[in-house]
Amino acid sequence: MIVVMNPRSSREQVDHVVRLLEGMGVNSHVIEGASQAVVELLKLDGEFDRRRLEKAPMVDKVLDNPVPILAANRSAGDGAQRPREIPLGPRAVIGGKKLGIIAGPCSVESESGLLETAAAVADAGAVALRGGAFKPRTSPYSCQGHEERGLEMLARAREETGLPIVTEVMCCKHVDCVQPYADVLQVGSRNMHATPLLKAVGEQEKPVLLKRGWSATLEEFLLAAEYIMHAGNRNVILCERGIRTHEEYVRNTLALAVVPEVKRVSNLPIIVDPSHGTGKAHLVTPMCNAAVACGADGLLVEVHTAPDRAWSDGAQALDPDQFRSLIKGLKPFADACQREL
Ligand code: PEP
Ligand code: MN
Repeated sequence: MIVVMNPRSSREQVDHVVRLLEGMGVNSHVIEGASQAVVELLKLDGEFDRRRLEKAPMVDKVLDNPVPILAANRSAGDGAQRPREIPLGPRAVIGGKKLGIIAGPCSVESESGLLETAAAVADAGAVALRGGAFKPRTSPYSCQGHEERGLEMLARAREETGLPIVTEVMCCKHVDCVQPYADVLQVGSRNMHATPLLKAVGEQEKPVLLKRGWSATLEEFLLAAEYIMHAGNRNVILCERGIRTHEEYVRNTLALAVVPEVKRVSNLPIIVDPSHGTGKAHLVTPMCNAAVACGADGLLVEVHTAPDRAWSDGAQALDPDQFRSLIKGLKPFADACQREL
């Protein structure tokens, strides 16, 4: 159970609620939310006078089994009904009228291949370049990425194309290395539950792209975003990348219903990754169309100059021509949703 205080409540009024609860034999814990404090009841056995609590000064409401989405709540901050706009470097944003399309290879491989891909996706209309230098691979025998050398190649591609770069950070130890190169730090599906990493990316100022854990519920996904925001960084972009189900014809099941649901409960922008969400190149374009149609703020798409020779995830990568056609074909869907490309 939680007690939600009025955004205008003072520290004394919050303390008053804590003391009131103590008097009823209930321990509690104060959470300082983005716009208001919340008092969480820690142990509730036996009787307690709920009405007295509801009537205490500056108590907005007492909720029974709530998910404390405080920082990312739809009504937090300025109460705007639009998603928060998150900068992707100095020129682009995610969460505005223009769709934020992020594209690039799964792994950073050669510098020439990366530059060619970056130029192609920039030309087609992508607003940022993605590419992994630290790769979370399922097998320890698969290539683990070029690490810092890969980050240097990404920085080079940014210099050539002007595209901000989105790249993954896998553990706290790597934050100091990845942070200066990246415009946006990606926390991958495998690490969505890694709370020390969520806190570490929350303590630095670059925006964070948080991918949904493949077994995470929406509630767990939003609470992972809360970890980052609670640590101080309000610039979080959510990314639906599919969940693991009994289904085998796709790599993951792309759960698009979270897009409108996130928009109902939260003010964070959400983008969709149909590459990992399906694992199959021929399904990427239709699912991008569907993602835009249901209100996604952007897309994350894997693009490779020669998908059949990619070091990782070639089966789900589009080549530059396919990517260009994808962007052209999105227009009617974007128009229908009053979005720009
Ligand atoms: C990726 O974006 O390359 C990646 C590893 O994604 P995920 O964390 O969603 O598996
Ligand atoms: Mn990948």
